Amino acid sequence: MSTRITHWIGGKPWAGTSERHGSVYDPATGRESGRVDLASAGVVDEAVQSAAAAAAEWRNASLTRRTQVVFAFRELLNARKQELAAIITAEHGKVLSDALGEVTRGLEVVEFACGIPHLLKGGFSENVSTGVDVYSIRQPLGVVAVISPFNFPAMVPMWFFPVAIACGNSVVLKPSEKDPSAAVWLAELWAEAGLPDGVFSVVHGDKEAVDRLLEHPDVRSISFVGSTPVARYVYERGTSQGKRVQALGGAKNHMVVLPDADLDLAADAAVNAGFGSAGERCMAISAVVAVDPVGDELVAKIAERMGGLRVGDGSRSVEMGPLITGEHRDRVASYVDAGDQDGARLVVDGRDQDVDGEAGGFWLGPTLFDQVRPDMSIYRDEIFGPVLSVVRVASYDEALALVNANPYGNGTAIFTNDGGAARRYQNEVEVGMVGVNVPIPVPMSYYSFGGWKNSLFGDSHAHGMEGVHFFTRGKVVTSRWLDPSHGGINLGFPTQS
Ligand code: NAD
Repeated sequence: MSTRITHWIGGKPWAGTSERHGSVYDPATGRESGRVDLASAGVVDEAVQSAAAAAAEWRNASLTRRTQVVFAFRELLNARKQELAAIITAEHGKVLSDALGEVTRGLEVVEFACGIPHLLKGGFSENVSTGVDVYSIRQPLGVVAVISPFNFPAMVPMWFFPVAIACGNSVVLKPSEKDPSAAVWLAELWAEAGLPDGVFSVVHGDKEAVDRLLEHPDVRSISFVGSTPVARYVYERGTSQGKRVQALGGAKNHMVVLPDADLDLAADAAVNAGFGSAGERCMAISAVVAVDPVGDELVAKIAERMGGLRVGDGSRSVEMGPLITGEHRDRVASYVDAGDQDGARLVVDGRDQDVDGEAGGFWLGPTLFDQVRPDMSIYRDEIFGPVLSVVRVASYDEALALVNANPYGNGTAIFTNDGGAARRYQNEVEVGMVGVNVPIPVPMSYYSFGGWKNSLFGDSHAHGMEGVHFFTRGKVVTSRWLDPSHGGINLGFPTQS
């Protein structure tokens, strides 16, 4: 049975009738599980109007009240996170433990946002001039939009909305139309936590809804996460409308393995970071850079571990689930064909994988290529699936040059026991998030998440202090309390005395 999934506007499900719909699938069976309403520009306008009305009051709610609501949301989410994880698995396909992991990482941002009274403290300088004080405050923007991808239907929206709401903004979330139910569940939870109606809305949709958010004059900022071409478009169009935009794009993450590394630990890390969530993570490792002479031994160890991976329905006891849609599975499989044709050595072929799940599921097993060259499409493109490429290089310098020549700069890792080499890498590599013997270096909520180059357009990363700054505007007040000594005419530019 296919369920209807609709927008959440003004603190309740939308009551209208949609002209357009999208299909939502259970990727483990391939069957349609839901039909999602796709918003027209008019529906986006409805959501923004309700959000703008709510923002006018929410910005003046006391810090204590805002913190209490965010804290109540944290408590509810923590108590019911298994429910959300099950919704994610049912629509995305990732295994339950992984879905729970994404909820936990989102929860950390909610916990960070509970510290908003401290985070919003401004500065105060007494007597900058005689009897004159200066202080700084940060105020919310108003209505802010979040547009998120399919691969983290809960965590990625939670990189933004807890901080935005705690700062006193109203949020309109446009989640991926491929797995939209998590967003609606989160909206219901906000209502239960006592958030006023309209402060958090969800509009489902595709390009039409995104374009209206980019154009709408009452939407002050856009926080976008998705593929690089769309991120670039959103950044250019949003900023041309005078909006503040942070647009996080795609990735091609390299894991450099130096000759002194522990190859067993490096192989474990490559398998975990390459195939977790079926490689559908922006921080997945997709290229292992093996520095001579470790190539043969490392490839053998990775292949051996891949033999033990069980693929199947994510709600069962398996390590890897299906891909998000049949179309995406076919696209990823076409890269496996291309790598084979281009002459890379196909060490493990995921197209032959046994699966613990229904035949109609969107399956593709973990795949390993060795002897991959940078000109091959499996190296060049973001595949966003369970395909790991090993590129062999002769030296640290060659590894660094390869990583720095890549147009993406999201995450990278170096595996070594040489502290000096690791330190040199973190200094020289042109990538936003670096792991030293940590394959998926996703920063904690009190640091900021974001890549460099084609992995992020704009200058603010997500959450941490950069998130607080993104969702507020600074204001500086210069103040004095007049007494007769301040009288007299003086047309000169004010200076301190
Ligand atoms: P996507 O770009 O297809 O979609 C992202 C969002 O944009 C969705 O809400 C979608 O509805 C909307 N959208 C799609 N096409 C659009 C268009 N032409 N115009 C306007 N809006 C459009 O991305 P996806 O397939 O959902 O997610 C996977 C991508 O996201 C990968 O490239 C991955 O690397 C990236 N990602 C990046 C990060 C990061 O932090 N840098 C995190 C997660 C995912």
